[in-house]
Amino acid sequence: MTPQHRDAEVVVIGGGVIGVSCAHLLAEEGAKVVLVERGEIACGASFGNAGAFAFSDIMPLASPGIMRKAPRWLIDPLGPLSVRPAYLPKIAPWLWRFWRASAPQACGRSTSAQAALMRLARSETQRLIETAGLTSMLRSDGNLELYESAEELAASMPGWQAREEEGIEFRQLSGEEIAELQPGLSPRFTHATFVPGWQSIADPSDYTRALWESARRLGAGLMSGEVRGLEAEPDHAKVLLSDGSSIRGRYAVVACGAWSRPLAAALGDHVPLDTERGYNTTLPGEAFDLKRQLTFAGHGFVVTRLTSGIRIGGAVEFAGLDLPPNFERSDAMLRKAKSFLPALRTEGGHRWMGFRPSLPDSLPVIGRSSASARVIHAFGHGHLGLTQSAATARLVADLVADRPPAIDLSPFRASRF
Ligand SMILES: Cc1cc2nc3c(=O)[nH]c(=O)nc-3n(C[C@H](O)[C@H](O)[C@H](O)COP(=O)(O)OP(=O)(O)OC[C@H]3O[C@@H](n4cnc5c(N)ncnc54)[C@H](O)[C@@H]3O)c2cc1C
Repeated sequence: MTPQHRDAEVVVIGGGVIGVSCAHLLAEEGAKVVLVERGEIACGASFGNAGAFAFSDIMPLASPGIMRKAPRWLIDPLGPLSVRPAYLPKIAPWLWRFWRASAPQACGRSTSAQAALMRLARSETQRLIETAGLTSMLRSDGNLELYESAEELAASMPGWQAREEEGIEFRQLSGEEIAELQPGLSPRFTHATFVPGWQSIADPSDYTRALWESARRLGAGLMSGEVRGLEAEPDHAKVLLSDGSSIRGRYAVVACGAWSRPLAAALGDHVPLDTERGYNTTLPGEAFDLKRQLTFAGHGFVVTRLTSGIRIGGAVEFAGLDLPPNFERSDAMLRKAKSFLPALRTEGGHRWMGFRPSLPDSLPVIGRSSASARVIHAFGHGHLGLTQSAATARLVADLVADRPPAIDLSPFRASRF
Protein backbone atom coordinates (compact mmCIF):
# COMPACT_ATOMS: atom_id res chain seq x y z
CA MET A 1 0.00 0.00 0.00
CA THR A 2 1.62 3.26 -1.05
CA PRO A 3 0.86 6.64 0.56
CA GLN A 4 -0.66 8.12 -2.61
CA HIS A 5 -3.34 5.40 -2.40
CA ARG A 6 -4.64 6.75 0.89
CA ASP A 7 -7.01 9.20 -0.77
CA ALA A 8 -8.70 8.88 -4.11
CA GLU A 9 -11.46 10.49 -6.04
CA VAL A 10 -13.10 7.10 -6.49
CA VAL A 11 -12.37 3.87 -4.59
CA VAL A 12 -13.61 0.85 -6.53
CA ILE A 13 -13.94 -2.25 -4.34
CA GLY A 14 -13.53 -5.54 -6.24
CA GLY A 15 -11.27 -6.47 -9.15
CA GLY A 16 -13.66 -8.59 -11.20
CA VAL A 17 -14.85 -7.55 -14.65
CA ILE A 18 -17.38 -5.11 -13.15
CA GLY A 19 -14.90 -3.30 -10.89
CA VAL A 20 -12.20 -3.25 -13.55
CA SER A 21 -14.58 -1.87 -16.21
CA CYS A 22 -15.72 0.84 -13.78
CA ALA A 23 -12.10 1.71 -12.93
CA HIS A 24 -11.26 1.90 -16.64
CA LEU A 25 -14.07 4.25 -17.59
CA LEU A 26 -13.57 6.46 -14.53
CA ALA A 27 -9.84 6.71 -15.30
CA GLU A 28 -10.70 7.53 -18.94
CA GLU A 29 -12.80 10.42 -17.64
CA GLY A 30 -9.87 11.73 -15.63
CA ALA A 31 -10.80 10.54 -12.13
CA LYS A 32 -8.10 9.47 -9.70
CA VAL A 33 -9.13 5.85 -9.18
CA VAL A 34 -7.92 3.27 -6.68
CA LEU A 35 -9.16 -0.30 -7.02
CA VAL A 36 -9.07 -2.45 -3.88
CA GLU A 37 -8.90 -6.22 -4.39
CA ARG A 38 -8.29 -8.85 -1.74
CA GLY A 39 -6.98 -11.48 -4.17
CA GLU A 40 -5.86 -10.98 -7.75
CA ILE A 41 -7.54 -9.21 -10.64
CA ALA A 42 -10.17 -11.62 -12.07
CA CYS A 43 -9.92 -14.26 -9.34
CA GLY A 44 -13.71 -14.50 -8.82
CA ALA A 45 -16.55 -15.31 -11.23
CA SER A 46 -14.77 -13.26 -13.89
CA PHE A 47 -11.99 -15.84 -14.07
CA GLY A 48 -13.70 -18.85 -15.60
CA ASN A 49 -17.00 -17.85 -17.16
CA ALA A 50 -18.10 -18.82 -20.66
CA GLY A 51 -16.86 -15.59 -22.24
CA ALA A 52 -20.11 -14.70 -24.00
CA PHE A 53 -21.40 -11.20 -24.68
CA ALA A 54 -24.98 -12.42 -24.58
CA PHE A 55 -26.65 -9.16 -25.60
CA SER A 56 -29.68 -11.07 -26.86
CA ASP A 57 -30.32 -12.67 -23.44
CA ILE A 58 -32.94 -10.16 -22.39
CA MET A 59 -35.25 -12.76 -20.84
CA PRO A 60 -34.72 -12.90 -17.07
CA LEU A 61 -34.03 -16.31 -15.60
CA ALA A 62 -36.99 -15.64 -13.33
CA SER A 63 -39.63 -16.29 -15.99
CA PRO A 64 -42.74 -18.44 -16.46
CA GLY A 65 -40.66 -20.75 -18.72
CA ILE A 66 -38.15 -21.63 -16.00
CA MET A 67 -40.92 -22.37 -13.53
CA ARG A 68 -42.19 -25.02 -15.97
CA LYS A 69 -38.75 -26.61 -16.31
CA ALA A 70 -37.58 -26.31 -12.68
CA PRO A 71 -39.47 -29.28 -11.15
CA ARG A 72 -38.05 -31.67 -13.80
CA TRP A 73 -34.54 -30.22 -13.41
CA LEU A 74 -34.61 -30.42 -9.60
CA ILE A 75 -35.20 -34.20 -9.67
CA ASP A 76 -31.63 -34.79 -10.88
CA PRO A 77 -29.07 -33.76 -8.20
CA LEU A 78 -26.45 -33.30 -10.95
CA GLY A 79 -28.88 -31.65 -13.37
CA PRO A 80 -29.08 -28.04 -14.57
CA LEU A 81 -30.58 -26.77 -11.29
CA SER A 82 -29.96 -28.07 -7.79
CA VAL A 83 -30.16 -27.02 -4.16
CA ARG A 84 -27.80 -28.52 -1.59
CA PRO A 85 -30.08 -29.78 1.19
CA ALA A 86 -27.88 -28.08 3.84
CA TYR A 87 -28.46 -24.72 2.11
CA LEU A 88 -32.21 -25.03 1.57
CA PRO A 89 -33.28 -23.11 4.72
CA LYS A 90 -30.96 -20.20 3.78
CA ILE A 91 -31.99 -19.97 0.12
CA ALA A 92 -35.74 -20.48 0.70
CA PRO A 93 -36.60 -16.73 0.98
CA TRP A 94 -34.57 -16.03 -2.20
CA LEU A 95 -36.42 -18.80 -4.04
CA TRP A 96 -39.74 -17.42 -2.91
CA ARG A 97 -38.77 -13.99 -4.33
CA PHE A 98 -37.58 -15.70 -7.53
CA TRP A 99 -40.96 -17.38 -7.86
CA ARG A 100 -42.73 -14.02 -7.43
CA ALA A 101 -40.42 -12.39 -9.98
CA SER A 102 -41.33 -15.15 -12.46
CA ALA A 103 -44.99 -14.08 -12.64
CA PRO A 104 -45.82 -12.77 -16.14
CA GLN A 105 -46.20 -9.10 -15.17
CA ALA A 106 -43.07 -8.97 -13.01
CA CYS A 107 -41.12 -10.89 -15.65
CA GLY A 108 -42.31 -8.39 -18.31
CA ARG A 109 -40.96 -5.49 -16.23
CA SER A 110 -37.61 -7.24 -15.74
CA THR A 111 -37.41 -8.01 -19.47
CA SER A 112 -37.87 -4.32 -20.37
CA ALA A 113 -35.20 -3.28 -17.87
CA GLN A 114 -32.83 -6.01 -19.05
CA ALA A 115 -33.40 -5.02 -22.70
CA ALA A 116 -32.52 -1.38 -21.97
CA LEU A 117 -29.34 -2.44 -20.16
CA MET A 118 -28.43 -4.78 -23.04
CA ARG A 119 -28.86 -2.02 -25.66
CA LEU A 120 -26.45 0.10 -23.65
CA ALA A 121 -24.16 -2.90 -23.14
CA ARG A 122 -23.80 -3.52 -26.86
CA SER A 123 -22.62 0.00 -27.68
CA GLU A 124 -20.54 0.49 -24.52
CA THR A 125 -18.74 -2.86 -24.91
CA GLN A 126 -17.73 -1.96 -28.44
CA ARG A 127 -16.49 1.43 -27.28
CA LEU A 128 -14.61 0.11 -24.24
CA ILE A 129 -12.91 -2.69 -26.15
CA GLU A 130 -11.81 -0.30 -28.88
CA THR A 131 -10.54 2.29 -26.39
CA ALA A 132 -8.56 -0.36 -24.52
CA GLY A 133 -7.12 -1.67 -27.80
CA LEU A 134 -8.57 -5.14 -27.28
CA THR A 135 -10.61 -5.64 -30.47
CA SER A 136 -8.47 -8.62 -31.44
CA MET A 137 -9.95 -10.45 -28.42
CA LEU A 138 -13.53 -10.12 -29.71
CA ARG A 139 -15.11 -12.87 -31.84
CA SER A 140 -18.42 -12.47 -33.66
CA ASP A 141 -19.37 -15.97 -34.75
CA GLY A 142 -22.84 -16.21 -33.24
CA ASN A 143 -24.57 -18.65 -30.92
CA LEU A 144 -26.44 -21.80 -31.89
CA GLU A 145 -29.15 -22.77 -29.41
CA LEU A 146 -30.21 -26.39 -29.81
CA TYR A 147 -33.51 -28.18 -29.24
CA GLU A 148 -34.44 -31.85 -29.31
CA SER A 149 -37.95 -31.50 -30.73
CA ALA A 150 -40.38 -29.10 -32.36
CA GLU A 151 -42.20 -29.01 -29.00
CA GLU A 152 -39.10 -27.85 -27.16
CA LEU A 153 -38.54 -25.12 -29.74
CA ALA A 154 -42.21 -24.10 -29.51
CA ALA A 155 -41.92 -23.81 -25.70
CA SER A 156 -39.02 -21.37 -26.15
CA MET A 157 -40.93 -19.15 -28.59
CA PRO A 158 -42.23 -16.54 -26.10
CA GLY A 159 -38.60 -15.68 -25.34
CA TRP A 160 -37.75 -15.39 -29.04
CA GLN A 161 -40.82 -13.26 -29.69
CA ALA A 162 -39.72 -10.88 -26.91
CA ARG A 163 -36.31 -10.68 -28.60
CA GLU A 164 -37.92 -10.04 -31.99
CA GLU A 165 -39.82 -7.11 -30.47
CA GLU A 166 -36.45 -5.76 -29.32
CA GLY A 167 -35.11 -5.99 -32.87
CA ILE A 168 -32.72 -8.85 -32.03
CA GLU A 169 -31.87 -10.80 -35.15
CA PHE A 170 -32.16 -14.61 -35.10
CA ARG A 171 -33.24 -17.39 -37.44
CA GLN A 172 -34.67 -20.86 -36.95
CA LEU A 173 -32.85 -23.83 -38.42
CA SER A 174 -33.35 -27.53 -38.79
CA GLY A 175 -31.55 -30.63 -40.11
CA GLU A 176 -28.87 -29.83 -42.69
CA GLU A 177 -28.78 -26.13 -41.80
CA ILE A 178 -27.73 -27.02 -38.24
CA ALA A 179 -25.01 -29.38 -39.49
CA GLU A 180 -23.65 -26.62 -41.75
CA LEU A 181 -23.14 -24.29 -38.79
CA GLN A 182 -21.78 -27.04 -36.52
CA PRO A 183 -20.77 -30.39 -37.98
CA GLY A 184 -20.55 -33.34 -35.58
CA LEU A 185 -23.68 -32.76 -33.50
CA SER A 186 -25.81 -35.69 -32.41
CA PRO A 187 -28.92 -36.03 -34.65
CA ARG A 188 -31.08 -35.79 -31.50
CA PHE A 189 -30.88 -32.00 -32.00
CA THR A 190 -33.53 -31.49 -34.63
CA HIS A 191 -34.17 -27.76 -34.24
CA ALA A 192 -32.09 -24.69 -33.46
CA THR A 193 -32.09 -20.92 -33.34
CA PHE A 194 -29.05 -19.02 -34.51
CA VAL A 195 -28.20 -15.53 -33.20
CA PRO A 196 -25.62 -14.09 -35.62
CA GLY A 197 -24.99 -10.94 -33.53
CA TRP A 198 -23.73 -12.92 -30.52
CA GLN A 199 -20.13 -12.12 -29.61
CA SER A 200 -17.58 -13.85 -27.41
CA ILE A 201 -14.28 -12.86 -25.84
CA ALA A 202 -11.06 -14.80 -26.42
CA ASP A 203 -10.82 -15.61 -22.71
CA PRO A 204 -12.64 -13.89 -19.82
CA SER A 205 -9.75 -13.75 -17.35
CA ASP A 206 -7.25 -12.59 -20.01
CA TYR A 207 -9.75 -9.93 -21.02
CA THR A 208 -10.29 -8.63 -17.48
CA ARG A 209 -6.54 -8.53 -16.83
CA ALA A 210 -5.84 -6.80 -20.15
CA LEU A 211 -8.57 -4.27 -19.37
CA TRP A 212 -6.95 -3.68 -16.00
CA GLU A 213 -3.55 -3.11 -17.65
CA SER A 214 -5.21 -0.52 -19.85
CA ALA A 215 -6.84 1.14 -16.80
CA ARG A 216 -3.46 1.17 -15.08
CA ARG A 217 -1.91 2.92 -18.07
CA LEU A 218 -4.67 5.53 -17.75
CA GLY A 219 -3.58 6.14 -14.14
CA ALA A 220 -5.74 3.77 -12.02
CA GLY A 221 -3.95 2.38 -8.96
CA LEU A 222 -4.30 -1.02 -7.28
CA MET A 223 -4.41 -1.63 -3.55
CA SER A 224 -4.22 -5.13 -2.18
CA GLY A 225 -6.52 -5.65 0.79
CA GLU A 226 -9.83 -6.87 2.08
CA VAL A 227 -12.56 -4.32 2.69
CA ARG A 228 -14.43 -4.95 5.94
CA GLY A 229 -16.69 -1.92 6.17
CA LEU A 230 -17.91 1.33 4.72
CA GLU A 231 -18.78 4.66 6.30
CA ALA A 232 -20.34 7.63 4.57
CA GLU A 233 -19.90 11.34 5.34
CA PRO A 234 -21.66 14.13 3.44
CA ASP A 235 -18.63 14.80 1.23
CA HIS A 236 -16.80 11.46 1.15
CA ALA A 237 -16.93 7.70 1.70
CA LYS A 238 -14.54 5.89 4.02
CA VAL A 239 -13.48 2.39 3.04
CA LEU A 240 -12.32 0.33 6.04
CA LEU A 241 -9.77 -2.43 5.46
CA SER A 242 -9.25 -5.57 7.49
CA ASP A 243 -5.71 -4.49 8.51
CA GLY A 244 -7.22 -1.55 10.38
CA SER A 245 -6.32 1.07 7.77
CA SER A 246 -8.82 3.06 5.74
CA ILE A 247 -9.03 4.95 2.49
CA ARG A 248 -11.18 7.97 1.69
CA GLY A 249 -12.78 8.67 -1.62
CA ARG A 250 -15.18 11.27 -2.94
CA TYR A 251 -17.06 8.12 -4.02
CA ALA A 252 -16.80 4.40 -3.27
CA VAL A 253 -18.10 1.77 -5.70
CA VAL A 254 -19.16 -1.62 -4.31
CA ALA A 255 -18.31 -4.17 -7.03
CA CYS A 256 -17.54 -7.29 -4.99
CA GLY A 257 -19.73 -9.66 -6.99
CA ALA A 258 -21.27 -12.40 -4.84
CA TRP A 259 -19.53 -10.98 -1.75
CA SER A 260 -21.17 -7.52 -1.94
CA ARG A 261 -24.03 -8.16 0.47
CA PRO A 262 -22.31 -7.19 3.78
CA LEU A 263 -20.86 -4.01 2.30
CA ALA A 264 -24.26 -2.92 0.97
CA ALA A 265 -25.77 -3.76 4.36
CA ALA A 266 -23.13 -1.63 6.13
CA LEU A 267 -25.03 1.41 4.87
CA GLY A 268 -28.48 -0.08 5.36
CA ASP A 269 -29.20 -1.71 2.00
CA HIS A 270 -30.35 -5.22 2.87
CA VAL A 271 -30.26 -6.77 -0.57
CA PRO A 272 -31.23 -10.44 -1.11
CA LEU A 273 -27.99 -11.17 -2.95
CA ASP A 274 -27.05 -14.85 -3.06
CA THR A 275 -24.99 -16.98 -5.38
CA GLU A 276 -25.88 -19.32 -8.22
CA ARG A 277 -22.79 -21.48 -8.35
CA GLY A 278 -21.76 -22.59 -11.84
CA TYR A 279 -19.39 -25.35 -12.91
CA ASN A 280 -17.35 -26.11 -15.98
CA THR A 281 -14.46 -28.06 -17.48
CA THR A 282 -11.95 -26.55 -19.89
CA LEU A 283 -10.56 -29.12 -22.32
CA PRO A 284 -7.51 -28.67 -24.56
CA GLY A 285 -8.29 -26.67 -27.72
CA GLU A 286 -8.02 -29.73 -29.97
CA ALA A 287 -10.77 -31.57 -28.04
CA PHE A 288 -13.35 -30.64 -30.68
CA ASP A 289 -13.64 -28.61 -33.88
CA LEU A 290 -16.08 -26.09 -32.43
CA LYS A 291 -17.29 -23.46 -34.89
CA ARG A 292 -19.17 -21.19 -32.48
CA GLN A 293 -20.84 -21.22 -29.04
CA LEU A 294 -23.41 -23.99 -28.63
CA THR A 295 -26.20 -23.62 -26.08
CA PHE A 296 -27.98 -26.75 -24.91
CA ALA A 297 -30.96 -24.90 -23.52
CA GLY A 298 -32.81 -27.91 -22.15
CA HIS A 299 -29.72 -29.08 -20.27
CA GLY A 300 -28.54 -25.72 -18.87
CA PHE A 301 -25.01 -25.62 -20.28
CA VAL A 302 -22.96 -24.20 -23.13
CA VAL A 303 -19.86 -25.23 -25.08
CA THR A 304 -17.48 -22.40 -25.96
CA ARG A 305 -14.16 -22.03 -27.75
CA LEU A 306 -11.67 -19.88 -25.82
CA THR A 307 -7.95 -19.33 -26.26
CA SER A 308 -7.56 -21.43 -23.11
CA GLY A 309 -9.47 -24.34 -24.67
CA ILE A 310 -12.98 -25.72 -25.15
CA ARG A 311 -15.06 -24.80 -22.09
CA ILE A 312 -18.11 -26.90 -21.22
CA GLY A 313 -20.36 -25.82 -18.41
CA GLY A 314 -23.06 -23.74 -16.82
CA ALA A 315 -25.81 -25.11 -14.55
CA VAL A 316 -26.95 -23.57 -11.28
CA GLU A 317 -26.31 -24.85 -7.78
CA PHE A 318 -27.66 -23.12 -4.69
CA ALA A 319 -25.11 -23.86 -1.99
CA GLY A 320 -23.91 -20.45 -0.80
CA LEU A 321 -20.38 -19.14 -0.58
CA ASP A 322 -18.89 -21.57 1.94
CA LEU A 323 -19.79 -25.18 1.11
CA PRO A 324 -17.09 -27.07 -0.87
CA PRO A 325 -17.58 -27.54 -4.62
CA ASN A 326 -19.15 -30.70 -5.97
CA PHE A 327 -17.15 -31.30 -9.14
CA GLU A 328 -19.31 -34.27 -10.03
CA ARG A 329 -21.45 -31.54 -11.56
CA SER A 330 -18.64 -30.63 -14.00
CA ASP A 331 -18.19 -34.32 -14.82
CA ALA A 332 -21.92 -34.82 -15.42
CA MET A 333 -21.99 -31.96 -17.97
CA LEU A 334 -18.90 -33.34 -19.67
CA ARG A 335 -20.56 -36.75 -20.03
CA LYS A 336 -23.63 -35.13 -21.55
CA ALA A 337 -21.50 -33.03 -23.90
CA LYS A 338 -19.77 -36.22 -25.09
CA SER A 339 -23.12 -37.75 -25.97
CA PHE A 340 -24.18 -34.55 -27.79
CA LEU A 341 -20.83 -34.18 -29.62
CA PRO A 342 -19.66 -37.79 -30.10
CA ALA A 343 -16.20 -36.79 -31.44
CA LEU A 344 -15.44 -34.71 -28.31
CA ARG A 345 -12.22 -35.83 -26.58
CA THR A 346 -12.88 -35.48 -22.87
CA GLU A 347 -9.41 -36.08 -21.40
CA GLY A 348 -7.03 -33.47 -19.99
CA GLY A 349 -9.64 -31.01 -18.67
CA HIS A 350 -9.49 -28.50 -15.78
CA ARG A 351 -12.58 -28.22 -13.59
CA TRP A 352 -13.74 -24.92 -12.09
CA MET A 353 -16.58 -23.57 -9.97
CA GLY A 354 -17.58 -19.91 -9.85
CA PHE A 355 -19.95 -17.81 -7.76
CA ARG A 356 -22.47 -15.91 -9.88
CA PRO A 357 -23.73 -12.89 -7.90
CA SER A 358 -27.49 -13.24 -8.21
CA LEU A 359 -30.63 -11.35 -7.27
CA PRO A 360 -33.99 -13.11 -7.39
CA ASP A 361 -35.37 -10.94 -10.23
CA SER A 362 -32.29 -11.56 -12.43
CA LEU A 363 -31.41 -7.84 -12.51
CA PRO A 364 -28.26 -6.31 -11.00
CA VAL A 365 -28.13 -3.57 -8.41
CA ILE A 366 -26.77 -0.41 -10.01
CA GLY A 367 -27.22 2.95 -8.30
CA ARG A 368 -26.50 5.03 -5.25
CA SER A 369 -26.81 3.46 -1.82
CA SER A 370 -30.02 4.53 -0.07
CA ALA A 371 -28.02 6.02 2.82
CA SER A 372 -25.46 8.02 0.88
CA ALA A 373 -24.93 9.45 -2.58
CA ARG A 374 -21.20 8.84 -1.98
CA VAL A 375 -21.54 5.05 -2.23
CA ILE A 376 -22.50 3.50 -5.56
CA HIS A 377 -23.55 -0.14 -5.91
CA ALA A 378 -22.55 -2.18 -8.97
CA PHE A 379 -23.12 -5.86 -8.29
CA GLY A 380 -25.50 -8.79 -8.74
CA HIS A 381 -25.16 -9.38 -12.48
CA GLY A 382 -25.85 -13.14 -12.20
CA HIS A 383 -25.31 -14.95 -15.50
CA LEU A 384 -24.54 -11.75 -17.41
CA GLY A 385 -21.74 -9.86 -15.65
CA LEU A 386 -19.28 -9.94 -18.52
CA THR A 387 -22.02 -8.92 -20.96
CA GLN A 388 -23.19 -6.00 -18.81
CA SER A 389 -19.80 -4.85 -17.48
CA ALA A 390 -19.20 -1.96 -19.87
CA ALA A 391 -22.79 -0.72 -19.51
CA THR A 392 -22.48 -0.85 -15.72
CA ALA A 393 -19.26 1.15 -15.94
CA ARG A 394 -21.03 3.79 -18.04
CA LEU A 395 -23.84 4.10 -15.49
CA VAL A 396 -21.42 4.30 -12.55
CA ALA A 397 -19.39 6.98 -14.36
CA ASP A 398 -22.62 8.93 -15.01
CA LEU A 399 -23.41 8.85 -11.27
CA VAL A 400 -19.89 9.93 -10.29
CA ALA A 401 -20.04 12.80 -12.79
CA ASP A 402 -23.56 13.70 -11.61
CA ARG A 403 -24.91 13.37 -15.17
CA PRO A 404 -28.34 11.92 -15.91
CA PRO A 405 -27.70 8.17 -16.26
CA ALA A 406 -27.73 6.70 -19.77
CA ILE A 407 -30.82 4.62 -18.90
CA ASP A 408 -33.49 4.72 -16.20
CA LEU A 409 -31.91 3.23 -13.07
CA SER A 410 -35.09 2.72 -11.04
CA PRO A 411 -35.47 -1.02 -11.93
CA PHE A 412 -31.93 -1.57 -10.59
CA ARG A 413 -32.18 0.25 -7.26
CA ALA A 414 -31.13 -1.59 -4.09
CA SER A 415 -34.38 -0.77 -2.31
CA ARG A 416 -36.63 -2.54 -4.87
CA PHE A 417 -36.98 -5.67 -2.71
C1 LIG B 1 -20.05 -21.01 -15.07
C2 LIG B 1 -20.30 -19.54 -15.33
C3 LIG B 1 -20.43 -19.09 -16.65
C4 LIG B 1 -20.70 -17.75 -16.90
N1 LIG B 1 -20.76 -17.33 -18.20
C5 LIG B 1 -20.98 -16.02 -18.48
C6 LIG B 1 -20.97 -15.56 -19.83
O1 LIG B 1 -20.73 -16.30 -20.77
N2 LIG B 1 -21.25 -14.24 -20.04
C7 LIG B 1 -21.50 -13.37 -19.02
O2 LIG B 1 -21.79 -12.21 -19.28
N3 LIG B 1 -21.45 -13.78 -17.73
C8 LIG B 1 -21.18 -15.08 -17.43
N4 LIG B 1 -21.14 -15.50 -16.14
C9 LIG B 1 -21.38 -14.53 -15.07
C10 LIG B 1 -20.16 -13.65 -14.82
O3 LIG B 1 -19.02 -14.47 -14.66
C11 LIG B 1 -20.37 -12.82 -13.54
O4 LIG B 1 -21.63 -12.17 -13.59
C12 LIG B 1 -19.30 -11.75 -13.43
O5 LIG B 1 -18.01 -12.33 -13.55
C13 LIG B 1 -19.40 -10.99 -12.12
O6 LIG B 1 -18.35 -10.08 -12.08
P1 LIG B 1 -18.07 -9.26 -10.76
O7 LIG B 1 -16.92 -8.36 -11.07
O8 LIG B 1 -19.32 -8.67 -10.24
O9 LIG B 1 -17.66 -10.39 -9.68
P2 LIG B 1 -16.32 -11.25 -9.51
O10 LIG B 1 -15.68 -11.55 -10.80
O11 LIG B 1 -16.66 -12.39 -8.63
O12 LIG B 1 -15.36 -10.25 -8.77
C14 LIG B 1 -15.57 -9.81 -7.44
C15 LIG B 1 -14.20 -9.46 -6.89
O13 LIG B 1 -14.36 -8.81 -5.64
C16 LIG B 1 -13.33 -9.26 -4.77
N5 LIG B 1 -13.81 -9.05 -3.41
C17 LIG B 1 -14.91 -9.60 -2.84
N6 LIG B 1 -15.08 -9.13 -1.58
C18 LIG B 1 -14.05 -8.26 -1.37
C19 LIG B 1 -13.69 -7.45 -0.24
N7 LIG B 1 -14.42 -7.45 0.88
N8 LIG B 1 -12.58 -6.68 -0.34
C20 LIG B 1 -11.82 -6.67 -1.49
N9 LIG B 1 -12.13 -7.41 -2.58
C21 LIG B 1 -13.24 -8.20 -2.52
C22 LIG B 1 -13.18 -10.73 -5.14
O14 LIG B 1 -11.91 -11.23 -4.72
C23 LIG B 1 -13.35 -10.71 -6.64
O15 LIG B 1 -12.13 -10.56 -7.33
C24 LIG B 1 -20.85 -16.84 -15.84
C25 LIG B 1 -20.66 -17.28 -14.54
C26 LIG B 1 -20.38 -18.61 -14.26
C27 LIG B 1 -20.16 -19.04 -12.85
